[in-house]
Amino acid sequence: MPIFEYECARCGQVSSHIVLGRRKRERRSCPACRSTRLRRVMSRFAVVESEASRLQSFDTSSPRDESFYRDSRNVGLWAKKRAREMGVDLGPQFESTVEKARSGKLIKEMS
Ligand SMILES: [Zn+2]
Repeated sequence: MPIFEYECARCGQVSSHIVLGRRKRERRSCPACRSTRLRRVMSRFAVVESEASRLQSFDTSSPRDESFYRDSRNVGLWAKKRAREMGVDLGPQFESTVEKARSGKLIKEMS
């Protein structure tokens, strides 16, 4: 579940919002002043806690054997971490990026 940070255009308060729907626009408001004029902050991205800690302990620079990539969850995780290292924004296209990674295409492109 993606969590995005938004900055209030009125008071500058930064708050985190879980984005539930891809298309549907949920009504988000600033927790400080209730303004709905929020803009997305791209400086850092948040991920669900458990995944964040997985990413933390995940080292893409160390070599992996074949069996590692056979687990598609690891491939997705690897791609995500690698993207973060490269400063790539994981936007709406990320799902397809993971799919690419799972089919092995992304690994070739990135290595
Ligand atoms: Zn505000």
